[in-house]
Amino acid sequence: MKTDNFGRLSKTRPEIAAIVALNLNQEDVSLSSHYTASGRKVVLVVGCAVAGSEAVAQFAQQGILTIAIEQNARPYGKIEDGLPRWHVKQRRQEYDKINAKLDHPNVRFVPLTKLSRDISLEEIVGWKLNAACLAVGAWRDRPLPVPGIDAYVGRGFYYQNPFVYWFNHYEDSDYNGPKYEAPDGTIVVGGGLASLDVVKILQLETVGRALKARGLPGEMLELEQKGIKRPLDALGLTMADLGVKGCILYYRRRVEDMPLAEPPDNPTSEQMAKVGMVRRKLLQNFLDKYLFTFHERHVPVGFIAEGDRLVGLKFAETEVKDGKAVIKPGTEKEVRAPLVISSVGSIPEPIQGIEMKGELYRIKDEETGEVEGLSGVFALGNAVTGKGNILLSMKHGRLVAQHVLKYLAGQPELQLSQIAAIEAKVKALQERVGYSGNYREWIAKVEAPV
Ligand SMILES: Cc1cc2nc3c(=O)[nH]c(=O)nc-3n(C[C@H](O)[C@H](O)[C@H](O)COP(=O)(O)OP(=O)(O)OC[C@H]3O[C@@H](n4cnc5c(N)ncnc54)[C@H](O)[C@@H]3O)c2cc1C
Repeated sequence: MKTDNFGRLSKTRPEIAAIVALNLNQEDVSLSSHYTASGRKVVLVVGCAVAGSEAVAQFAQQGILTIAIEQNARPYGKIEDGLPRWHVKQRRQEYDKINAKLDHPNVRFVPLTKLSRDISLEEIVGWKLNAACLAVGAWRDRPLPVPGIDAYVGRGFYYQNPFVYWFNHYEDSDYNGPKYEAPDGTIVVGGGLASLDVVKILQLETVGRALKARGLPGEMLELEQKGIKRPLDALGLTMADLGVKGCILYYRRRVEDMPLAEPPDNPTSEQMAKVGMVRRKLLQNFLDKYLFTFHERHVPVGFIAEGDRLVGLKFAETEVKDGKAVIKPGTEKEVRAPLVISSVGSIPEPIQGIEMKGELYRIKDEETGEVEGLSGVFALGNAVTGKGNILLSMKHGRLVAQHVLKYLAGQPELQLSQIAAIEAKVKALQERVGYSGNYREWIAKVEAPV
């Protein structure tokens, strides 16, 4: 036994595995239950956004009692806090889909409850459930590999995830989180789709601000839809007229390598060349529309600090050899900026009891989501790959849930007394956060204020 972050006794991984696999073999008590379609099985899903809610729906429809634990009041995950808020219609549609999946009589939703903080994995597996699914997404920013830079987080240096969270929420009437800035001339280090959203946020904020300061229309949604160039052209203005330089995106490889379009499986060199051209075109369109600056083949190798603040980065040029960015010696230069935002990817947060393989959970097989060494524990959605999109997360949630359903078929049924004990534990968790058991009533109460 070890102790966890909170000083509680925690079991080792083999002990946890043994608990999950073990189902008590007591006599049934004569409780009536409607969890009969697939036998009396109970499954836990942690994280209730795209991937989690899809798995919940798959289980609940099969008559399985499904406990759905979510750290936030609202279960929308990256749809609410990642996907930028200009996707108004898409966000609403995805919220509705998630709500429809979680609002099922076989689902026990437990909001405002974080695995590893409010309850440990070890505690939950001790409930003798049939399986546990982790659909916790990827909420940790991959660290920017510049030694010492993290000391400046919040002082001239931000990571992408909290910055986008701020952008999505700062206009909420009840927002009281940290205030982020979006100054002109910010450096963004990245190259993936999310980093282009960060660039867009910065451009919309700086140009919108400059237009409004002149009493001109600078509404975020309009600028996002039309791009920055068209509205400025219509006003007969340039970025220079507004006194705005725009932000600068640095990417370590070539434009053709940017993950903006995916090649088919096992691509030929011709297909790769085509994908490269598509990527170049996509980026050019984006540059033309949002008027920022872009530098390919640059990697940060150090930072510049003044007092307690980061005031820029040291970049080196690279050349791409076998797909890798190799630093060209003697090319180092300093670039000053009021802010640097790192957008180099998101990775899952560690969970006590789950072994990591590098930045990701140690998974036996991506298709089944089976967590290595923990029988009955599965991972799905962004939590497995650390990247992806809405459709991929939903499909992966379904794929893993279908595998879990097969796994459950070989599992012994729980005794009704065991199910009653689990229900009591879940009820206590719900009561702790003031959740009455009525999903729609809860969602109406916690719906995002605007
Ligand atoms: C800036 C940005 C732009 C994007 N744009 C697009 C786009 O245009 N199109 C597209 O298809 N995709 C886009 N994506 C990606 C897409 O939003 C995600 O791939 C998808 O929503 C992930 O779904 P998920 O269910 O796997 O993970 P998440 O949405 O991250 O869900 C994980 C859930 O688990 C909960 N959770 C986490 N840890 C715990 C814990 N310990 N205990 C309890 N609950 C926990 C979280 O609160 C969350 O609700 C974008 C992402 C970002 C960041």
